[in-house]
Amino acid sequence: MQNILVPTTPAIETKPGWKLAPAAFGKPGNQATVWAECPDFCSENHVDNWTQHAVDLDHWGSDGARWDTDSMHAPAEALLALSARLYLDPTNPDPRMRAATVRIDDESVDVFHTPEMAEQTADELIAFAAQLRHLARQARTFNEGPAEALHQVRGGQV
Ligand SMILES: [Zn+2]
Repeated sequence: MQNILVPTTPAIETKPGWKLAPAAFGKPGNQATVWAECPDFCSENHVDNWTQHAVDLDHWGSDGARWDTDSMHAPAEALLALSARLYLDPTNPDPRMRAATVRIDDESVDVFHTPEMAEQTADELIAFAAQLRHLARQARTFNEGPAEALHQVRGGQV
């Protein structure tokens, strides 16, 4: 009996930062699975999430960043959310999209940032967080201030 060796990875070299991953293309019921170049950061299953044409193959990082918040009127509901993932579209006519980008999504609009734009946005979000903390301090000071003390002295009567 002859042993048949099935290679677990193809003997094709990729450029640095890229790997080969199985990808399925075609129409439902008539697909072919081939090895496709995939950036190392890509966590997409290109067989389960097949595309009809090879040019539609794009690459996604795993969920890298996510923030959401509820409201005092709807606790435990994520009413406002932001998430960010790495994204790359190797056949996009825009060369910036053929490089790794950061896709930021608020669940209604998504934007694509170059690394420099993402860094600028991160700096702006840090500034926003500082302003938010300042607003929280102002609200607390007001709530605990003279008006609230007078309200308590009057036994809750205005
Ligand atoms: Zn990929």
